[in-house]
Amino acid sequence: MTLVTTNPDRQMAEIADKIRNGVRLSFEDGLFLYRSEDLLTIGQLANEVNLRKNGKKVYFIENMSLYFTNVCEAHCAFCNFRKDQGQEGSYTLSPEEMIAYVDQHIHPGVREFHIVGGHNPHVPFEYYVESIRALKQRYPNVTIKAYTAAEIDFFSRISGKSYREVLETLMEAGLETLTGGGAEILSQE
Ligand code: SF4
Repeated sequence: MTLVTTNPDRQMAEIADKIRNGVRLSFEDGLFLYRSEDLLTIGQLANEVNLRKNGKKVYFIENMSLYFTNVCEAHCAFCNFRKDQGQEGSYTLSPEEMIAYVDQHIHPGVREFHIVGGHNPHVPFEYYVESIRALKQRYPNVTIKAYTAAEIDFFSRISGKSYREVLETLMEAGLETLTGGGAEILSQE
């Protein structure tokens, strides 16, 4: 469907009127906003709706970021974190070392561990599973959010397990949610 807009400013003004008067937007309005590059106006309108619905309430969770290893087989162009195995500064923490680090740095407000890291092919899939299990056993009340979908794909390759089996194994060990990012890698579409 092609939407022909002769006057984008007028159309945006009409949409703004609708939003301010609580009138539901049409499908065509949605397409117009999707294609518009006027992000500041769209952001302002979205903020108006958000304030109307939610006031100034903001929710957040205090988490602790953990990086088990910086050894990585990938070479993402933007990455300044990865190292090769044996390279100066490379590390792979054992579950015990990770627990010791967390014991030393955690405080009562932390309600989530956020865990990502390198795709280290020099340790088996079990290493990643047991790291999660050790953390969950030590801190059963802290939610474990771990691994991007890119890591799930990596675990599948090094273990020979399907994505489902990888996820079930990690969940059995204590994984409760994945981190964002990389999910497109799990589907050709
Ligand atoms: S997968 Fe992660 S750690 Fe590895 S190179 Fe890419 S961004 Fe860096």
